[in-house]
Amino acid sequence: DSGAHVPALVIGTGYGGSVAALRLAQSGVDVHMIEMGMAWDTAGPDGKIFSNTTSPDSRSYWLRTRTKQPLSNFLGFPIDKDVTRSTGILDAEEFSGITVYQGRGVGGGSLVNGGMAVTPKRENFGAVLPSVDADEMYGIYYPRANAGLGVGTIDPAWFETAACYQYARVGRKHAQRAGFPFVFVPTVYDWDYMKQEEAGTVPRSALAGEILYGNNYGKKSLQKTYIERIRATGRVAISPLHKVTSVAPATGGGYTVVIDQIDTGGATTATKTVTADRVFFAAGSVGTSKLLVKLKATGALPGLNNEIGKGWGDNGNVMCGRANHLWDPTGSLQASIPTGGIDNWAAGGAFAEVAPLPTGIETFASFYLSITKNPNRAEFAWNAATGKVDLNWQTAWKQPSIDAARTIFDRINQKEGTIYRTDLFGTYKIWGDHLTYHPLGGAVLNRATDNYGRLHGYSGLYVIDGSLIPGNTSVNPFVTITALAERNIEKIIATDL
Ligand code: FAD
Repeated sequence: DSGAHVPALVIGTGYGGSVAALRLAQSGVDVHMIEMGMAWDTAGPDGKIFSNTTSPDSRSYWLRTRTKQPLSNFLGFPIDKDVTRSTGILDAEEFSGITVYQGRGVGGGSLVNGGMAVTPKRENFGAVLPSVDADEMYGIYYPRANAGLGVGTIDPAWFETAACYQYARVGRKHAQRAGFPFVFVPTVYDWDYMKQEEAGTVPRSALAGEILYGNNYGKKSLQKTYIERIRATGRVAISPLHKVTSVAPATGGGYTVVIDQIDTGGATTATKTVTADRVFFAAGSVGTSKLLVKLKATGALPGLNNEIGKGWGDNGNVMCGRANHLWDPTGSLQASIPTGGIDNWAAGGAFAEVAPLPTGIETFASFYLSITKNPNRAEFAWNAATGKVDLNWQTAWKQPSIDAARTIFDRINQKEGTIYRTDLFGTYKIWGDHLTYHPLGGAVLNRATDNYGRLHGYSGLYVIDGSLIPGNTSVNPFVTITALAERNIEKIIATDL
């Protein structure tokens, strides 16, 4: 309520925010979490909380009148369709040179992501977070994060026979024949549930293609892990459909936080002002960066340093498809949770996940999301004319990612005598180089903040999400975001409270 005072306010309910809220509450601090998206705890008219990938409705996109699917075309035909504008689950946020996909709602990106839960190889960690003690991360915080998230690996025997992973077995065969190691990728999917999905004894979610617009059953999103434990503490209030617009020092100590309550059409219905002793920025790389850049430029937090908004990267995301021969079908039933990848990081700077194309029909296509070593970094800046925050990423900056991905797929195509698909991202376009699922950076650890996420210039203000990570993690990022948050909040609780 307006006028309230809270000891700790957390902006956002994704990985960083959930770790912060749980650990603060467990140490006896009352917490209020503010989330701009919906609660996602109530079934719609079809009896399900989330809408299916093949029939997106008003629940699918954040304030759009037309879907913006990552794969925009199929066999040359555009596949986007009109939807009712609403505060849906997937935000395709457009900046000048890149579309950044993000989850909206209680659970943040965990609501929409592929569930791939990957710890970087230790030899790569020095480049991921150079100022962080690797022994501590691999000894304590990565294990803590993996346990808290419920990470598990597919039963290798089941993998060999399950029809829904034929696409992954074909991906493995092609990788190995070209001389690349294929590795299993751990996930947060409930593997026993998926076995039952395949057996037809439970309602399907991964096997019904559910992923981008939410997963109704088997995926352990944060709602089923950290947030369930948060609720059990009884010390945390969560306000969905509330968006933080300002944080500024309060007279008499602490911070004044301004919050817009919005309706499902996106309109502001009330503006509330609360004070908080401590504020944790956990609005995601884009959300936190946009807020901090605006607050520094407009005079609410003028003492933030010049690293704010800098060091943003796309984790080198690039997608592509390959056309297989008719003797290499990838299956009409494809589990939406990828479970294997091709590791050519050391030699070629690319880690390619073998991804599903869950169209329900045989496509003879292999599809991949590659995470690559891309050195380009963009910067967020306040645009006084539009009153918005811009990002200066350029489409051409994906070229190092394409080059890295080609170290894998040119060789596989040569070995198999196959070609790239050119029909998935437009007409005659091979590379899905227009987007990222993995925004990282903008308030980088040990630059915009100290080595534990304390913002320089303001005691009691913290960053605790993907904006701390300088642009690249060599694998999918959420385990690293969670582990770093576990490390930082432990230090903050021990020394600041
Ligand atoms: P987020 O999880 O983004 O949470 C931030 C929250 O803050 C959001 O809920 C947002 O609505 C809220 N918010 C923002 N601004 C405000 C504001 N002003 N006021 C109130 N609330 C606000 N990663 C993996 O590791 N493996 C995968 O398989 C994977 N697949 C992905 C697939 C897709 C389609 C997408 C979009 C992402 C995927 N990711 C994956 C990335 C992963 O989900 C993100 O890296 C992760 O969610 C980031 O965590 P975070 O805590 O930084 O922020």
